[in-house]
Amino acid sequence: MVARSSPDTRAALGARSGRKRAAADLLLPRETSIKARRSNAAKSTAVLERLARAIPRPHVELTFEDPWQLLVAVILSAQSTDRRVNLVTPELFRRWPTPAALGAAEPDEVETVIKSTGFFRNKTKAIRSASAMIAERWGGQVPRSVPELLEIPGIARKSANVVLGGGFGVTAGIATDTHAMRVARRLRLTLEAAPEKIEADLCKHFPRESWTKLGLRLVLYGRYVCTARAPDCKNCPLNEVCPSRLTKPEGSWQERADRQAAEMEPRAQGFVRP
Ligand code: SF4
Repeated sequence: MVARSSPDTRAALGARSGRKRAAADLLLPRETSIKARRSNAAKSTAVLERLARAIPRPHVELTFEDPWQLLVAVILSAQSTDRRVNLVTPELFRRWPTPAALGAAEPDEVETVIKSTGFFRNKTKAIRSASAMIAERWGGQVPRSVPELLEIPGIARKSANVVLGGGFGVTAGIATDTHAMRVARRLRLTLEAAPEKIEADLCKHFPRESWTKLGLRLVLYGRYVCTARAPDCKNCPLNEVCPSRLTKPEGSWQERADRQAAEMEPRAQGFVRP
C-alpha cells in the first residue's frame, strides 16, 4: 500500500526533486517569458477570486473595541488561541480601560487575569510596557505606521500588520501567521520559510489594495480549511491551482467556495471587519 504524504511533505519533496517544476508553479518575479507571467497572473487572480468567494467577510477573530485593545489582544494571542484570549480580555479591559491604566497596573493583578493564555509573566510585562509606551509617547493613541509599531514591546511585523489592517483599515503588508504561511507554501506562492520573506513574496504578486483582506483570508483558510493535519482538498475551491492537493476536487470551484462560505459566514458574526 502506498502511504499518502502530507501537503507539506509533497511541497518539500517537490522543491528538492526539481527546481524547474517548482519554478513553474511559483510566482517568480525573475521569470521573463510572457507565458510564465500570464500563468502567474492567472494564478494570482484565481487565488484572490476564489478565496474572496469562500470567505466573503474576512475578519480578525479577536474581540476588541479600538486599536489599543486589538494590540493588547494580539500580544496575548501568542502561543494561545483567539478563543482563549477572548475569554480574558473583557475582564482585562473592564479593570484597566485605557493604555495609561494598564501601563500602571500592578503586575500580579494583571497576571491573575491573563494567566490562562499562557506565558502570562512575559505577556504581562509586554502589555504593561506597550500600554505605558502608547500612553506616554503617543498620548494614548496607537501609532499608525509599521516602524513605530515595531518599537512597541511584543509587536513584530505580523502583529503590526494585524493592528493596522484590523484596527485602522490601513494596508501596510500581509499578516503572515503560521496558518497563512502554510497555505502560501502549499499553493507554491512562495518557497520561503521566514515570515518576512513569505510576506515579501506575497506582496510582490498581489495588488496592494488586496493585502489586508488577503492576509485575513489566508489566516482563516489555514485555520479552518487548509489545516495542518487534515486539509479539506476535496472541498477546496483552490484545488485546481494548488500543487499540493491530496485529492481531486468535488464539483465546480464555485460550488466548493459556496460550501466553504456557508461554514465561514457564522464565524464572522460579532467580529469587527476591516
Ligand atoms: S487543495 Fe486546498 S486544502 Fe488542499 S493543500 Fe491545496 S490549498 Fe490546501
